[in-house]
Amino acid sequence: MYFFPPQYSPSLNKLFCRLAKPCPVQVRVGVPPPPGALLRAVAVYKKAEHVAEVVRRCPHHERCGTDGNAPAQHLIRVEGNPQARYQDDETTKRHSGLGVHTVLYNFMCNSSCMGGMNRRPILTILTPGGILGRRCFEVRVCACPGRDRRHEEETQRKGGGAGGGAKRALPPPAEVRGRQRFEMFRMVNEALEATFGGGPAPRKRRPRGEGRVPRGKKLLLKGESGESD
Ligand SMILES: [Zn+2]
Repeated sequence: MYFFPPQYSPSLNKLFCRLAKPCPVQVRVGVPPPPGALLRAVAVYKKAEHVAEVVRRCPHHERCGTDGNAPAQHLIRVEGNPQARYQDDETTKRHSGLGVHTVLYNFMCNSSCMGGMNRRPILTILTPGGILGRRCFEVRVCACPGRDRRHEEETQRKGGGAGGGAKRALPPPAEVRGRQRFEMFRMVNEALEATFGGGPAPRKRRPRGEGRVPRGKKLLLKGESGESD
């Protein structure tokens, strides 16, 4: 079970925080986690069209450098925890910060940072080691977290209608990984198709009409939709 700071909005499942200000996230479990258990936090872009891109700091903030052992390009930093570790996943290149029990996460860029998040919403996925319960929530890093939170909650109340439980675009945490991978492969596939003009099994396997009537007119003249090969 997780305990979030006051800037967290349960109805939006969203954390509003300021740049480089610690956000305490507590992990409470009935059974103490095994010694050395780590809580992993990874940020991913929320929208499908950006999900394949690694969330990293903008060039400006990256140049501002780092303190302690946190890499300058990492968005999420673990505060005051000498046991914190940072990893860049070898395959996905995603950054993660690891800490224990109560973790003070610092988000080291604004959501609006040009050349970084560029106003694209992000999710943060917390994965505890040794115990169950992955958690996923949206994060907005901004100058006025309180004001933005009130504003967004109001918008939700107005727009949500009388349905009671607001329908969230968020997938259940367990599905995030699978969906993310799927989106990543889909995007890579689309990019390859765009670059190389179709894969080994394109949808329309039609020979190029060399020396024939232009493609557009062929159908009109024949009046048949290419049934005969
Ligand atoms: Zn930045």
